[in-house]
Amino acid sequence: MNINSTIISGHHSLQDIRYLLNDKRHVLLVTDKNIVGLPGVQTLIAQIKNNVPQLSLIDNVPAEPSQHDVEAILNQLTATDVDAVIGVGGGSVLDVAKLLSLLCAGDTTITLKTLLAGITPTRRTVSLLVPTTAGTGSEATPNAILAIPEQETKVGIITPVMLPDYVALVPELTTSMPPHIAASTGIDALCHLIECFTATVANPVGDNYALIGLKKLFANIETAVHEPENLEARLNMLWASYYGGAAIAHSGTHLVHAMSYPLGGKYHIPHGVANAILLAPCMRFVQTAAQEKFAQAYDLLPDADLSLSTSQKAQELVAYFTALVKRLNLPASLQQLGIDKEHLPYLVESALQVQRLMKNVPTTVSADDVRDIYLTLF
Ligand SMILES: [Zn+2]
Repeated sequence: MNINSTIISGHHSLQDIRYLLNDKRHVLLVTDKNIVGLPGVQTLIAQIKNNVPQLSLIDNVPAEPSQHDVEAILNQLTATDVDAVIGVGGGSVLDVAKLLSLLCAGDTTITLKTLLAGITPTRRTVSLLVPTTAGTGSEATPNAILAIPEQETKVGIITPVMLPDYVALVPELTTSMPPHIAASTGIDALCHLIECFTATVANPVGDNYALIGLKKLFANIETAVHEPENLEARLNMLWASYYGGAAIAHSGTHLVHAMSYPLGGKYHIPHGVANAILLAPCMRFVQTAAQEKFAQAYDLLPDADLSLSTSQKAQELVAYFTALVKRLNLPASLQQLGIDKEHLPYLVESALQVQRLMKNVPTTVSADDVRDIYLTLF
């Protein structure tokens, strides 16, 4: 999959996007109510107003947007003849911006309904994505996730056409993220990297992205959470998240993401929090099957003991995951989140239905296995 977006990165790098605006007539900026007030975003808006005749601003993308939310956003637009879409925000905003880059491309056969029905789009407008959390990696993936509230589920619209022309990794846009969001989104990036690295569909291209991302993540996640103003750690986490998205584009996640789907879809547990609870138990389950890859990942830890055997390294990596989630003060049980055991049959059935990801698990996984893993979380 071709994901070679042009990347602009670093402190003050938003100033560098001026040249992207030179020949534009109508820019659509997509963000949310928390992000729009950030000084960097206000500067960007002023820049667009100074350089482009028309700006349409959508600043109310909700968290976990549904199909109806995207339709309402389209109705807000007085004109859809935009020639650039800029998304600034977390995964939800970037997913909506990616969809709008298809829906505002002037192809009348492409609507949200036809996209959901599986029609493949062939074009989009010029797009720039600017992540303000470091976790989803949406700026590097061909996926947009939409909630379908009537079915208590989420669906992915997946097409490489959505991959953006430009990505800006701007650390000062992430410093206002509260520590618990920096922690849970960082763990989401970790799950993308380690799951893609160990998936049945793993391949050398995806592995390369995963290894670079894991090294950056291990060295920076705790500093980024505990020192919000540390721009170097924040930028490294943006890169780790980007590489996680790039790994998804070439490989795919598996057990953690399959089992976290029902926790998000029905119980509205934030994606990164659900993944944090599932990370160590799921990795313990695949530890033997993924031993070689786990040992390779372990070697990237800043204080790795390279004299350990492959199986010891795999075991130590899982122990690190358990300790990391605890040190980041993330919940470690479903009970802490108000879910009790009576929901177990629903959770097991729903997770097994996520066949797209379950088939990527590097070992066989039965309904009993899934039940046993969920049981360790109560
Ligand atoms: Zn994720």
